[in-house]
Amino acid sequence: MNQTKRKTIIAGNWKMNKTASEAAELIDGILPAVQDACCEVVICTPFTSLVTAVEKCKGTNVHVGAENVHFEKSGAFTGEISADMLVDLGVEYVITGHSERRQYFAETNETVNKRTRAALAAGLKVIVCVGESLAEREQGVTEELVRLQTKIALKDVTAEEMQRIVIAYEPVWAIGTGRTATSEQAQEVCAAIRKVVGELYGSDVAEATTIQYGGSMNAANAQELLSKPDVDGGLIGGASLKPDDFGAIVAAARQ
Ligand code: PEP
Repeated sequence: MNQTKRKTIIAGNWKMNKTASEAAELIDGILPAVQDACCEVVICTPFTSLVTAVEKCKGTNVHVGAENVHFEKSGAFTGEISADMLVDLGVEYVITGHSERRQYFAETNETVNKRTRAALAAGLKVIVCVGESLAEREQGVTEELVRLQTKIALKDVTAEEMQRIVIAYEPVWAIGTGRTATSEQAQEVCAAIRKVVGELYGSDVAEATTIQYGGSMNAANAQELLSKPDVDGGLIGGASLKPDDFGAIVAAARQ
């Protein structure tokens, strides 16, 4: 984590958890737990909790994000949500390319790119997720795969827009499994992502881009993961639903 060159960001991904009323209660727990944060704190909630989250987080140090966005501006896309709809609610961030979207909802590198560009065009900040499966890691293609995912996700994204891009390295085998990447593995792949960003945009942009690690990050392992020079924060699933654990991860980002 290099706080002199880039922002450290700890973001929660609530996935499909919490009704709007439960979200209000959870946010009441999170706000005091993270109020002394030295880093940026984001909570990404289901669409149905966004209004509540935006309202509750107004005037606090917690930023609100969505978990997905459609790439078209409007039209006959039943069940989808556009970037303008999120912006209108006061939402600031959105996640694209989460592995659960890729795995269960046929998300491809190309649609991740389309969603990312649509979100940027509407003024959102985007947390773009990349990461290899266990089979890909065992086949020794992690770096190639993550390079490819990063390059396609960022196709036609400008250097200026990169100021609103965060990349989350999330090994699929570590998400929700309790099996965390070692800090060396996280560092190695985050550094490889920074290298590809440098090839695409130059070293100034690469050095300024926040690259998070995500995958079973918790109160116990956060400090070690965040101690690595290219790990600039975390995308947190399960532990983001527990105020004390999320608060401890945020606190670990200050050390
Ligand atoms: C995630 O959903 O992005 C994630 C990293 O989940 P977990 O922390 O539960 O592994």
